[in-house]
Amino acid sequence: MSTQRLLWIDGRFVPAIGNKTFTTTNPATGEVLAEVAQAESADIDVAVAAAAKAQAQWKRVPGAARGRILHALSQKLREHRDELAELEMQDGGKPIAETPEADVDSGADCLEYFAGQATSIQGEYQEVDGGFFYTRPEPLGVVGAIGAWNYPLQIACWKTAPALAAGNAIVFKPSELTPLSALRFAELAKEAGVPDGLINIVPGFGDAGQALSNHPHIDKISLTGGAETGKKVMADAAGTLKEVSLELGGKSPLVVFDDADLDNAVSGAMMANFFTQGEICTNGTRVFVHESVREAFIEKLLARVEKLKLGNPADGDTDMGPMISPEHGKLVLEYIEAGKAGGAKCLTGGERVEIAGCENGVFIAPTVFDGCTDDMTIVREEIFGPVMSILSFTDEDEVIRRANDTEFGLAAAVFTRDLERAHRVIGEIEAGICWINHYNITPIEMPFGGIKGSGIGKENSRRALSYYSRLKSVFVAQGAIDAPY
Ligand code: NAD
Repeated sequence: MSTQRLLWIDGRFVPAIGNKTFTTTNPATGEVLAEVAQAESADIDVAVAAAAKAQAQWKRVPGAARGRILHALSQKLREHRDELAELEMQDGGKPIAETPEADVDSGADCLEYFAGQATSIQGEYQEVDGGFFYTRPEPLGVVGAIGAWNYPLQIACWKTAPALAAGNAIVFKPSELTPLSALRFAELAKEAGVPDGLINIVPGFGDAGQALSNHPHIDKISLTGGAETGKKVMADAAGTLKEVSLELGGKSPLVVFDDADLDNAVSGAMMANFFTQGEICTNGTRVFVHESVREAFIEKLLARVEKLKLGNPADGDTDMGPMISPEHGKLVLEYIEAGKAGGAKCLTGGERVEIAGCENGVFIAPTVFDGCTDDMTIVREEIFGPVMSILSFTDEDEVIRRANDTEFGLAAAVFTRDLERAHRVIGEIEAGICWINHYNITPIEMPFGGIKGSGIGKENSRRALSYYSRLKSVFVAQGAIDAPY
């Protein structure tokens, strides 16, 4: 059942100026879901103009009123939970067992959180020599946002909610692989009372993203995507000195000490590698296990990994769906081959699995490599698939050094019952998001974002608002100027 989807600009659906379209498919079945209008530079110009016009009004709307509208939008998401979860499952190949909570609820939670925060944006006041000053946090203007394909609706919410709460308008380019949920999100936003022009959705490819990064009337660019794309976006944004937030990839360490609750550590390692079939930026794919518990850990891990069910993501009992695309699936399988050729021992998985009725999808069995070394390609590079590398260690200083030996710095976890050690080790690890005895839990209240090659800036939490505002300092003189001339 293929439909047509247009661009969403200024509160309505419009065709692309160049009349180009592209298809989006269900990665499990290969079924074409929709023919989607393809935004190019000229469309971005129209969207930015609509956004700028809407923002000129929106910035005067009091925070409480902005918050009420964001709250109404969060309610819309909750009312349409089943529909949006289904859409996300179809377009992204994500198991229907995951999408209601991981995608829709998390998006709604974010809107609700920033609805509340919209009233909390405050400046400072201080008396100083000769007078006083105050600061005014002001919106940036028009935000250009670019999304990845793994959490399309959640990414749209994570960028839109703080942007609008702080008084900005947004032009959002979803990934070309998953454009559908953002378009539906914008329609629901209009129903919720979001003024026309405030949220614009421009599906398209990298060139449309680049038109956003280069645009002279866009004031900030926020990207969720790969590290190489991040560097290009930052270079393009430099031309107009835009503010930049980058949520990029990772190769995160998960450290299991000898005193860890091993069942808990196995739960964490599985969540860190196989949720959303391994297509999660924060995944802890380098699993460092203390040599004295390595065998016991592996035994417990394999017993549980082998129970994971690959299948059609539409089936309620499916744990893992297909890779997002045949091309991405091929890449992941190549990494697996590189792991085998490089001398890592494949304990389970390591191959493509045929699923009846889903012959066009690339399904990859959850894969665990043991005997990995730090220099292996599978240990150094982000795979973005269900591939776990187990590395053995014996000493705390050694594991800290090896955990940090990466260009990335997105996430990390430590599993231990020794709390002193947990905090000590986390204090030394170079990563923006850390967990002690847990993995991949991202409450909206907690700042989210990487360091080093994994990005710049934070999403979620109160801090996100500072990435969507700028501060104006105003000095007020009290008394005559003591002029030296
Ligand atoms: P990608 O970098 O290929 O694409 C991301 C987005 O950037 C897409 O919308 C794409 O069209 C656009 N794009 C591509 N080239 C561009 C250019 N030159 N200028 C502007 N925009 C351009 O990434 P992907 O394959 O969609 O997603 C997977 C990557 O995203 C992984 O590396 C993953 O780790 C990362 N990711 C990070 C986070 C995070 O929060 N840190 C979350 C999800 C995904």
